[in-house]
Amino acid sequence: MSALGVGKEVLSYCNKCKLTLAHIILTMKDDANIGKVECKTCHGKHNYKDPSTVGAKKVKARGATKQSKSKLSVADLWLDAVGKSDAKSQPYSPKTEYVLGDIIDHPKFGPGVIDKVIDGNKIQVIFRHEIKTLMHKLG
Ligand SMILES: [Zn+2]
Repeated sequence: MSALGVGKEVLSYCNKCKLTLAHIILTMKDDANIGKVECKTCHGKHNYKDPSTVGAKKVKARGATKQSKSKLSVADLWLDAVGKSDAKSQPYSPKTEYVLGDIIDHPKFGPGVIDKVIDGNKIQVIFRHEIKTLMHKLG
């Protein structure tokens, strides 16, 4: 990067424009630190603001929002369903009748939450790694 100095162009955050824009250096604190700058867009004069410190926060916040909106995996659905349910976990038996929100402990698939009661003898269950259709009310 070329040496900084009065009259040179620099990128600074502008409070009026709310953007990182080209500014002209008006004063220098010392050889390495910019004092005041003038915005080339609105011609406002203000202290230099390093855009990397101003912008970093915004980018981070945006990234977090994006992540939370990404598609839910089965594990996420499972966590969500378990969190919503206040039912006690019970060992799975095809003879028992289950209702929405019941938590079962399956010998093969582990803990699961009843997501849907399909028809007569079928239930849809969210397990940690997969969603399964199981039988209930048999016998
Ligand atoms: Zn401006």
